[in-house]
Amino acid sequence: MHTYEPVSTPRDGLRLHLNENTAGCSPAVQAAIHALSRQAVSSYPDYAAARAACAQRLGVNAERLLLTNGLDEGILGLTGTALKGATSSEVIILVPAFDMYAAAADGLGASVVQVPLAEDFAFPHDRLLAALTPRTRLVWLTNPNNPSGRIIPREAILAVADAAPQALVAVDEAYADFSGETLLGSDAFETRNNLVVGRTFSKAYGLAGLRVGALIGNAALLAAVGRIVPPYSINACAAAALPAALADTGYYDWYRAEVEQSRRLLYVTFDRLGVTYWPSQANFVLVRPAGDCAALVRALAARGIHVRDRSRDTHSVNCFRVTAGVVADTAAFITAFEEVLCGAA
Ligand SMILES: *Cc1c(COP(=O)(O)O)cnc(C)c1O
Repeated sequence: MHTYEPVSTPRDGLRLHLNENTAGCSPAVQAAIHALSRQAVSSYPDYAAARAACAQRLGVNAERLLLTNGLDEGILGLTGTALKGATSSEVIILVPAFDMYAAAADGLGASVVQVPLAEDFAFPHDRLLAALTPRTRLVWLTNPNNPSGRIIPREAILAVADAAPQALVAVDEAYADFSGETLLGSDAFETRNNLVVGRTFSKAYGLAGLRVGALIGNAALLAAVGRIVPPYSINACAAAALPAALADTGYYDWYRAEVEQSRRLLYVTFDRLGVTYWPSQANFVLVRPAGDCAALVRALAARGIHVRDRSRDTHSVNCFRVTAGVVADTAAFITAFEEVLCGAA
């Protein structure tokens, strides 16, 4: 059985375990929430402004955009749509992967087909094509990948979409804000009706607590997803916050620059200490320490630094994932990491 394992949430300390924006949301978002009228709270929300702002920022036609309650809801809705009316369906995921894909597929009765990533988490092109069957209804690609941070070449994504006309090919771009690589706006994407892109505003925009994401794809497909996703699934606070978050491009650019500098600081540290890691295009880095990873993660937690232990996943053995957020937070992680490593040596 595949389940979404809730991550324990520390009450205090530095949260570097869920790839959140470690600086918080833009002050403009907080102001927009404060400015909500009592009537805005007592009314069913209207999404026209949020949808238009989102379509404009992402450079897509609003007809090809569906806002969802976090991308998680988009994953659930898309899975339901892909499986509708089919029996003995298969959903392909590349592992290690974000847990929601398998949890949703399993929960809705499909078989989960796991295709391991290649050496060093590279895209397993041939293995993935070989896993496609007439029963394949949905293929999940995460670009950049979570937890490795690696990019999938665009040609590889298009090749999968073309090889699987019987399936939906979903490209989860939760971290595309950090990589700068997206299918959005390309002819190759707009002309393939079985390709759909997922985005979230939880990570770069810092709205994880408000729950807002988006699916982008052909209008008929999104209309089908919209029959599964409830009509008012995004609350009024999130609908008011999204345009404010999208408009504050200064904050967004500042945060992306912090993340980039944090990644560089982490690489320098890991290189100096001889620790294995994978260069990342996202706001996190996957690390494989030489010693007992779980013990290291516990020792960091005891110092108030929370990272994600991935060591029990057979596809990321002895690895942990650390969020690259604001530079000061990364510096705090580095200090604790060196203490723990040297103390254990
Ligand atoms: C965080 C994350 C999501 C979920 O985002 P929400 O919008 O917060 O639901 C989806 N996919 C991946 C790969 C993620 O890491």
